[in-house]
Amino acid sequence: MTSYHNHTVFSDGKATAEEMVRAAAEAGLAEVGISDHVVLHPEGKTFKWAMPPERLDEYVATARAAAERFNIPVRVGVEADFFPETAEATRRLLAARPFDFLIGSVHFAAGFLVDAGRKQWAELNEAQREEKWTVYWHRIRDLARSGIFDFVAHLDVPKRFGFKQKEELPQAALDALDEIARSGMAVEINTAGWTHKVQEAYPSPALLREACRRKIPTLINADAHAPQDIAQGFGPAKLLAREAGYSRVVRYEGRRRRDWPL
Ligand SMILES: [Zn+2]
Ligand SMILES: [Zn+2]
Repeated sequence: MTSYHNHTVFSDGKATAEEMVRAAAEAGLAEVGISDHVVLHPEGKTFKWAMPPERLDEYVATARAAAERFNIPVRVGVEADFFPETAEATRRLLAARPFDFLIGSVHFAAGFLVDAGRKQWAELNEAQREEKWTVYWHRIRDLARSGIFDFVAHLDVPKRFGFKQKEELPQAALDALDEIARSGMAVEINTAGWTHKVQEAYPSPALLREACRRKIPTLINADAHAPQDIAQGFGPAKLLAREAGYSRVVRYEGRRRRDWPL
């Protein structure tokens, strides 16, 4: 198994790249990835949980150096937020560097940070929540169309605090999946959801089945922010993938994708 979606002290992780790589080697993983947050916000806002774009070269060098001490291949990527307004700048920023994979994320439904806290979801009425969800799905659709990224992070993350949509398979979500399928991107199974209030991996079993039906590739990630979480939930995630119809996962090197048996 591999674990590509992991954070370090360059963004909101608690450990260094070296500590994360050591944990992956000790867990017996086949490959490990580092993928810290980078955000080009349309209004130029900066966030404590993301590294400044100026640190990208230092970040890549640090992650590559971590590979030298351990007997495990290290893949270097980023988790970058998608905004229509800064898509071209994000593409240029990332394409200029030697990444193995790029994770596309939507944490902002317009001005609303979807995974910031339970309170801001609780303050909305049901119609307002549905509206946030729809904005989110439109953003995912646009992220797919942009062609910038290799896979989508935590596909239905707005459910994090337990505020799911009324419908299991809303049309906007299916439209986003259609666009992901056309883009050739993969969708990760993100096990962090099992540790969040919603207690369900991202995406939901129903969405994952729809992804599989559309032949969208998948891979299993922990979204770890600490070494002990590097492979959390991987056993159940494997079962979830199989139940959705998957028998293969993907790996990345130098932005090239390889198929691997699950
Ligand atoms: Zn994220
Ligand atoms: Zn993440």
